[in-house]
Amino acid sequence: MFLEGPRRKILGIDIDGVLADFVTSFCIKVEQVTGKVIGKVPHRWSWYLDEGVTEVEADKVWKEIAAYPHFWYGLGPYPGARQVVEALNHVDGVHDIYFMTTRPPGAKYWTEQWLQDLGFHNPTVLITARKGLACQALGVEVFIDDKPENALEVYRALPPTARVYMLSQPWNAEIREAWADERREGGVQVLEEVGEMLQREGIDLLRAQPRLIGGLDVRGVEGVI
Ligand SMILES: [Mg+2]
Repeated sequence: MFLEGPRRKILGIDIDGVLADFVTSFCIKVEQVTGKVIGKVPHRWSWYLDEGVTEVEADKVWKEIAAYPHFWYGLGPYPGARQVVEALNHVDGVHDIYFMTTRPPGAKYWTEQWLQDLGFHNPTVLITARKGLACQALGVEVFIDDKPENALEVYRALPPTARVYMLSQPWNAEIREAWADERREGGVQVLEEVGEMLQREGIDLLRAQPRLIGGLDVRGVEGVI
């Protein structure tokens, strides 16, 4: 007789625009490098080019970030991101979780440090610009990203049983409207919050709350959590 274990899943989680507020830190970096102040509500991917930043200046900003990848450690988490990360940490070992990002080389270490600070004890960060291929190779079944191109690429690369989610953000509004008009979303499920993905995948957000403090499991101890 076999004991039936938990249903194991392989998850791919994007970071910028999903857990981390890239925009605010990038705006500060643009100002430091170029002296230009740009708006913090992007309506498209390379919004800074609409705000008076030239291609040459943008290139300088990206070179600066590549030279000092500690930049990625300084990003603020979105509200609720800590809870999501803790919930994922709680099921790490039940499921296989990969954090997948197109951040430039050099970002891996700082991204892992950042995730650890947010409550994920032993994160695996994969840096890749080919998320479709990477997900296919890893057998990812659940994927979330805020970039429509990534969501579609991954959706097309995976079997139809996979769930691909796109987090709703101001910079993907146009695409979402186009998808809604065409009444087709390419099978990508659009979410307002990352927590919805956890809910749909049966990962309990509340389970994230208990945590070890000084080796003591404080689960359920009132007034501590
Ligand atoms: Mg992203």
